[in-house]
Amino acid sequence: MKVIVLNSLSHSGSTVLSMVLSASQNAISLGEVYQILRDEPSKWLDNNESCSCSQSTEHCDFWGPVLRHIQTHQIHDINERYQYALQYFTTHYGDDSILIDTSKGDKHIDIYRRIKVDYKLIYLLRDVRSFAFSQSKVAARQKRKGLKKIKGQVWFQFLKWYFGNKKRLKKLENTTIKYFQMGYEDFCFNQNNRLNDLCDYLDIPFDPEYLSMSNAKHHVLMGNPMRHQKDKQSAIKYDSSWLSDTRNAVPCAIFPFIIAYNKKHVYQK
Ligand SMILES: [Zn+2]
Repeated sequence: MKVIVLNSLSHSGSTVLSMVLSASQNAISLGEVYQILRDEPSKWLDNNESCSCSQSTEHCDFWGPVLRHIQTHQIHDINERYQYALQYFTTHYGDDSILIDTSKGDKHIDIYRRIKVDYKLIYLLRDVRSFAFSQSKVAARQKRKGLKKIKGQVWFQFLKWYFGNKKRLKKLENTTIKYFQMGYEDFCFNQNNRLNDLCDYLDIPFDPEYLSMSNAKHHVLMGNPMRHQKDKQSAIKYDSSWLSDTRNAVPCAIFPFIIAYNKKHVYQK
């Protein structure tokens, strides 16, 4: 079994990229594995949310048996939970299967290291202007009160993007972990070439057909809602609505170092 870890800040395109990669033979995306395994299994088994495979969590052919096993055997240690999920994945899908994990944060990276599982890591960054536009929109919709209102400010999201990515990339640079870094925009505007580079790095056969996502295989319980919208899974459509938003102008002017960082890390291969 191979593991592909797709790491990024939230809203950085990891769902789309995981769908593309899961269209390759033997690959299956399990979404944010860490965020599912750290919770009590009952949280997932008892809720009415369905898996992206269109079954309820209880009847999903991956998460159903895995979460029930963790619940019945009262496995509390996150390392052991991960170990069981990986073991079930191999038994159920075969030795050649490839697991795609899009967990947020970096705790799962430490777990893979602790349980001695080899993985290939892809670090994805989305253009700061697009990130800040969508994140501030989401925060404004949530009608936050008091200090949390700040999340609706584009300049705040610029800083969050900068310090968040910088911290993660620094941590990766300071370890021996090999990783492939890619800008989401760079991927969207050069789909064939970037996919080819990715397949090379991941050691999987290249096929431009993956970009149609028609053969995507996934069991995603949480994350981007596009996982349920089959019509959106036909081709990568880049949401460029941030281009016409003028609220980016001031943060771009006051944070030139963020714009320079953005240019270097999102658009340079
Ligand atoms: Zn499922």
